[in-house]
Amino acid sequence: MARVHNFSAGPAALPLEVLEQTASELIDYRGCGMSVLEMSHRSAAYQRIYDETEACLRRILSIPDTYQVLFLQGGATLEFAAIPLNLMRRGRAGYVVSGNFAKKAWEEARRYGEAVALASSEDTNFDRIPDLSPVAERAACGDLDYIHICQNNTIFGTMYHELPSTGEVPLVADVSSCFLSMPLDIERYGVVYAGAQKNAGPAGVTVVIVRRDLIEDGPALPICPTYLDWRTQAAKGSMLNTPNTFGIYLCGKVFAWIERTGGLAAMEQRNRAKAELLYSLLDGIDLFFGTAQPASRSIANVTFRTASPELDAAFIAGARERGIEGIAGHRLVGGMRASIYNAVDMASVEALAAYMTEFEENRRT
Ligand code: PLP
Repeated sequence: MARVHNFSAGPAALPLEVLEQTASELIDYRGCGMSVLEMSHRSAAYQRIYDETEACLRRILSIPDTYQVLFLQGGATLEFAAIPLNLMRRGRAGYVVSGNFAKKAWEEARRYGEAVALASSEDTNFDRIPDLSPVAERAACGDLDYIHICQNNTIFGTMYHELPSTGEVPLVADVSSCFLSMPLDIERYGVVYAGAQKNAGPAGVTVVIVRRDLIEDGPALPICPTYLDWRTQAAKGSMLNTPNTFGIYLCGKVFAWIERTGGLAAMEQRNRAKAELLYSLLDGIDLFFGTAQPASRSIANVTFRTASPELDAAFIAGARERGIEGIAGHRLVGGMRASIYNAVDMASVEALAAYMTEFEENRRT
C-alpha cells in the first residue's frame, strides 16, 4: 500500500495504526453486531466510547476536575461566536490579532460586544507574535470579560512560545493547530478549544475545555443559541442533540495512540526534532527562506518560499511526483507550508528535506 508523505494543514494525516484499527472495527464494533456509525448515541455501548474518549483526553492533557470537556460541532469557527455569547457578560473582551483566524475570531466577537484589539502583527503580514506588553497592561484594568489568543497561527507558521500574562482575566485560546502537539498547562487558561482535524481526529469534532466556574457563575447571553450554550452542553454531556458519534470515537482512537506512544511530552520532542530539521535547512539553503520571524516560529506549521511564485510552483509540482502532498501554502499567502503534526513521522520530514536539498542543488548546476 502506497501512503503519501502528507503535510496537509487539516484535515491532516492520521496515524496509520488508528486507521487500521478503525477499519477492523468498522462493520462490527467489538462484537456489537453493528458499526459505531449505526449506533444510537443514547446506547450504553456508545456512552462507554464517549466516556473512555473523554477520560483518555483528561489523562494525556492532565485536565483537572475543575474543567469541563465538551465535544461539539461547527469547528473552531462556530466557537468564535460561542465565546462571546457565553462569556461577554459585561460586554467587553480583548483580542490579540496574530493571524487570519485570530482576526476572524475578533471580528466575530465584535458582533456581540466590544472586542478590543490589544495587539496586532498585521502590519508585517502576521510574520510574528506581536509584542504582548499591552495585553498585561490592559488586563490589569479589570474591565475585560476575557482575553483571546490564537496560540498557533496555521497559515503564517507562528506560535506563542510564552503565554501573555492576563492576571485575573480568563485567557481563551484557539489551539486548533497546536492541540496535543505538546503538553498544555490547562490551569493557565479559562478556555481552550480546537477543531479536531489537525492532531486530534477527523473534521467535524470541536473540543472545548472550559473552566467550570466560567459556565457556572453566570448564564450565557440571552441571544446565545441553545446549542452554543456551554452550560447546557455540559449538563447534557455534549449530547444536547445528536453528536458527531463516529468523529468522537475516532478522536478516542487518536488519544489512545498518543498515550500509547509516550504522551504529549514525547509528541513535543518529536515535533521539535522535525521542526528543527526543516528550520535548519531553511536557514542553511539560500534558495528557500522561512516566512515567520525566528522567535515566533511554529513547531506545527513550517512556512517558507523561494524568490518567485514560479519557482514555488515548480517545487510543489516536483514534490507531488515524489509522493509529497499538501505542501502548498495557504491561498492567502502562497509559498509553501509543511504541517508536521503528530502523525507526520520523521521519515516523511526527511523525505521533504532531501527533496529540498536536491531541488536547490539542481538549481545551482
Ligand atoms: N483556528 C485555527 C488556528 C485554524 O487553523 C483553523 C482551521 O484551519 C480554524 C481556526 C478554523 O477551524 P474550523 O475549520 O474547524 O472552523
